[in-house]
Amino acid sequence: MSAEQLSTAAPDLAARLAAVTARLNLACTRAGVPPRDVRFVAVSKFHGAPAIAAALEAGHRHFGESRVQEVQSKWPPLRERHPGTLLHLIGPLQTNKAAAAVRAFDVLHSVDRPRLAAALAAAMDRTGRRPDCFVQVNVGDEPHKSGVPVAGTDTFVKECVDTYGLPVVGLMCIPPYGGDPRPHFRTLRTLAAASGLRQLSMGMSADFETAVAEGATTVRVGEAVFGPRPRH
Ligand SMILES: *Cc1c(COP(=O)(O)O)cnc(C)c1O
Repeated sequence: MSAEQLSTAAPDLAARLAAVTARLNLACTRAGVPPRDVRFVAVSKFHGAPAIAAALEAGHRHFGESRVQEVQSKWPPLRERHPGTLLHLIGPLQTNKAAAAVRAFDVLHSVDRPRLAAALAAAMDRTGRRPDCFVQVNVGDEPHKSGVPVAGTDTFVKECVDTYGLPVVGLMCIPPYGGDPRPHFRTLRTLAAASGLRQLSMGMSADFETAVAEGATTVRVGEAVFGPRPRH
């Protein structure tokens, strides 16, 4: 990346990050939670190194990506320059990429089936790395959508912990597109409480303030930070 590319991306990115941070802080204040209790993951999927470097230069350290291969090609030089960066896997994960994901990511937000849980457990044993895991819940019980069904959440969480020994810290959801997300955020919060989990990964560009009001502990914000994604 050239210095020129960086300097054109940098002011814009820093301003967008600051704007989202300000909105997030306000949402936290309204919800009565300290802003440091809500983690802001900047979703950089499909965006190039210059934009990400600008966010890193502005001090941001949590990033979300949806593809193992993209992380492997894009991130090594960025991580080297900015130690302490934490990468979050937010996209569906194929079982045959479990080992690569355990190596490349620090937090996994999309654990949603027993075969994947088993593959992740094996990869963690082999590598000695133990990224925090979120179980993804299909809160709208939509056909063809990733995530465990609402009714199967507690059983699957227990299986992840008791059978596979995964470090499950919370639940994650993507509410159905277009509707009111609030009831779905509430569903996730209720399910997490029932399973004894504290963390809730919920809220994206369009609805992160609502998610914070409903108890989100991690929000995943892409377009509001990086602008529209390049087509893929
Ligand atoms: C892409 C993506 C996001 C970010 O979405 P925006 O609308 O760009 O904020 C968050 N979570 C998941 C799971 C995603 O796939």
